[in-house]
Amino acid sequence: MKEKIKSLKNEIELELNSVKNLKDLNEIKNKYLSKKGPVSELSNGLRDLSIDDKKVYGKLITDFKNDINNQFNILKDKFETEELNKKLENEKIDISMPGVNIGTGSPSFVEKVIDDASDFFISLGYDIYEGPEIELDKYNFEMLNLPKDHPARDAQDTYYLKDEDLLLRSQTSPVQVRVMLNGKGETPIRMICPGKVYRREDIDATHEQEFTQIEGLVIDKNISLSDLKGTFDAFVKHTFGENTEARFRPSYYPFTEPSVEMDMSCIYCDGSGCSMCKPKGWITISGGGMVHPNVLRMCGYDPDKWQGFAFGMAAERIAMLKYNMPDMRSMHENDLRETINFDRKEVK
Ligand SMILES: [Zn+2]
Repeated sequence: MKEKIKSLKNEIELELNSVKNLKDLNEIKNKYLSKKGPVSELSNGLRDLSIDDKKVYGKLITDFKNDINNQFNILKDKFETEELNKKLENEKIDISMPGVNIGTGSPSFVEKVIDDASDFFISLGYDIYEGPEIELDKYNFEMLNLPKDHPARDAQDTYYLKDEDLLLRSQTSPVQVRVMLNGKGETPIRMICPGKVYRREDIDATHEQEFTQIEGLVIDKNISLSDLKGTFDAFVKHTFGENTEARFRPSYYPFTEPSVEMDMSCIYCDGSGCSMCKPKGWITISGGGMVHPNVLRMCGYDPDKWQGFAFGMAAERIAMLKYNMPDMRSMHENDLRETINFDRKEVK
């Protein structure tokens, strides 16, 4: 019996010495320590022995079993620790690795134009206003001297909503109406109201169904057309450079009288004519005039005491000229190739 135990112990220890991982260790454990394995067989062999021998060999077998189990457990702990360390090593986050670069973006050309124009007009003492993009017909047309049967309404194909009194504003002028109504015919006004407007246009390189207006309004006493001209002249010099000139041409708008087209000298040529300036040497960027007495009256200001001028321009048009962009659509299409491809040098 002693010999059997000794040789079995040697056999198991030999295998344990060469075992490399937890899986192999468990296989060895099953092979020797299962119910029908060789170690259990030793215990079965006790049955045929005398009581005294049973005591002696029983203890030997128990010690042997404990010893073997002990060795298994020590190895089991060792392998488990190794595996855990390996796992931790593999799953470690390497904080020295470079991160994923997330581009921070920059303002769009339209936003840049609005920010720049806002800075300019704030420096002249103007306030910046915003208003609703879904507007009342009354504010978008009627109070701007455009009654329902006015022929000028045909010129603007407007997006009316289900309720015919509601529409997507076709101009930001209703913001001016709202500010005038709040002024109650007593408060002088200096304001611009940059914002989106919507018109049913056929889309091409210079027309979109949605664009951004920068409209301005000044109401005070002793205001004349020369105030508008001085303001516009300062604006084009601020935006396009000191050498830029301003020019007015007669025009017609229902909400101003007199009305003017507002041109600036071409920033691309010396006035000799280029593809940007037709007619020669001048580019139209704005329209405006003196606020029509009917508009003043409807908005609560007495035209015998108050005068005002108003103007409007498209931020996209300014951006196209300032940043030399040939196609207005690229500003709304979100295609980066379009904005990267052309020369974006600022014209000053
Ligand atoms: Zn030109």
